[in-house]
Amino acid sequence: MPIDATLPYDDQNIFAKILRGEIPANKVYEDDHALAFHDINPQAPQHILVIPKGPYVSWDDFAARAGDAEIAGFVRAVGHVARAAGMVATGYRLLANIGQDAHQEVPHLHVHIFAGRPLGPMLA
Ligand code: C5P
Repeated sequence: MPIDATLPYDDQNIFAKILRGEIPANKVYEDDHALAFHDINPQAPQHILVIPKGPYVSWDDFAARAGDAEIAGFVRAVGHVARAAGMVATGYRLLANIGQDAHQEVPHLHVHIFAGRPLGPMLA
């Protein structure tokens, strides 16, 4: 079920539990601002999720409330993960779903990174 991205942050969401180490994830990168792990239901040969460590429901919430250092750290982490995974030469796609019409399912901001095959034109 898609979430209502206007609701307050719920610290019982599954990515909050991954951040606290309460449930496992196949981690690929971690720093002060971000955690990256393989999506459990990959939609491309490489499908990685990058999440900020702070409590942000969505990209909208992050852009509105996060500090400049958090935003810079998160953006750099996304770029680092893609570069370190060797995606730059062939290309990759970033995607962030925000709220109901975008079918966001987990109420903690996550950026999807897709790579490893031609991804086709962007679908609206
Ligand atoms: O953007 P959206 O909220 O729809 O995407 C949620 C993503 O989180 C899905 O791709 C799902 O496979 C992934 N997921 C995960 N590990 C979990 C729960 C969900 O990788 N434990």
